[in-house]
Amino acid sequence: MHHLCKMKKTVAFAKNAVNVFFHITTRCNLKCAHCYINFAQHGQLTLPAETVSQWLSFFSKPGKDANLVLLGGEPTLHPQLPEIIRAARNMGYGSVTIDTNGYLFHDILDKVAPTDVDYFSFSLDGPDPETNDAIRGCGCYEACTRGIKRAVEKGFSTSVIYTVSRQNLHKLSEMPALLKDLGVNRFFIQVIGIRGRSAKAGQDALQLTRLQWEENVPPVAQAVSNAGISVTYPKVFLEPDDIFECAGNVAENYFIFPNGRVYRCPLCEDYPLHSLEIGARGLVLTPKINEADLFSLNIAEGCVINKLVQGGNIDYDQQGQPLWQVACCLLKEEISAD
Ligand code: SF4
Ligand code: SF4
Repeated sequence: MHHLCKMKKTVAFAKNAVNVFFHITTRCNLKCAHCYINFAQHGQLTLPAETVSQWLSFFSKPGKDANLVLLGGEPTLHPQLPEIIRAARNMGYGSVTIDTNGYLFHDILDKVAPTDVDYFSFSLDGPDPETNDAIRGCGCYEACTRGIKRAVEKGFSTSVIYTVSRQNLHKLSEMPALLKDLGVNRFFIQVIGIRGRSAKAGQDALQLTRLQWEENVPPVAQAVSNAGISVTYPKVFLEPDDIFECAGNVAENYFIFPNGRVYRCPLCEDYPLHSLEIGARGLVLTPKINEADLFSLNIAEGCVINKLVQGGNIDYDQQGQPLWQVACCLLKEEISAD
């Protein structure tokens, strides 16, 4: 049967919303190959619920929509997660998403309602145990898909996040059928970054080339949307007439770690480059030089931090000019299901 192609659109950076990504713990039961949690930079704490609530209050501002993503480590290892979710709701956070590896500890699905949580977002890196468990660990596919089924049965909206590397690219095309089968509402394709454990292991060999990305990711995204599931993936490579923008300059995204560091750019999280930290009464600016000093540098390659930490994804012509610009890692393409 012939499907009409749905239109992809680039999601503009929201000017009137605050997006808060709060790592409430760095503890996790897994050791995924591409995990970016880095104890030296992010600490090893699990923050008490009162601390999480206090810090959350520093980011909710009147007149701005605030969206919260709770993550870790594994956030469901936090025994007070239900309290944290309710505190965020009471503070006016408009959406709350829980990013989980699927183990769903402390019976979290029985302790919160679909009205409390907008999405449970499950990390799954393959359509079968062989592919997924080679990356995320033995038994993980089974645990994660069981978690998705239980969440769907209980009436929660669900998403799946698939981190594409050379290790699982060839299996991406099998995901639409699985997602449909599981009753998942949204699919996020993520690109492997060279951070945390991946950086230490020298796993730049896992990164996709522009060609691999373009030949595989957009067609699968189209197939996912044809199956009635919304799909989002990073833009990564800009076209010649696209205008480069750094989210650090034009949007309000905050990536909070349990040691009190607050980053505006996820690519900086492996370094002590955070521009903000939590003080006793609110956010304080960190001394120069920090990520914010880098956001305003204009370079031909697009994103400055990408060039510094993973410049291998840019190619140059004989005059030394970049053949393309790399987009902000937060710039997304979206194909909605309706
Ligand atoms: S589940 Fe997440 S936090 Fe845990 S090891 Fe894997 S990537 Fe890291
Ligand atoms: S990824 Fe690059 S463009 Fe995006 S916020 Fe970070 S420095 Fe700015």
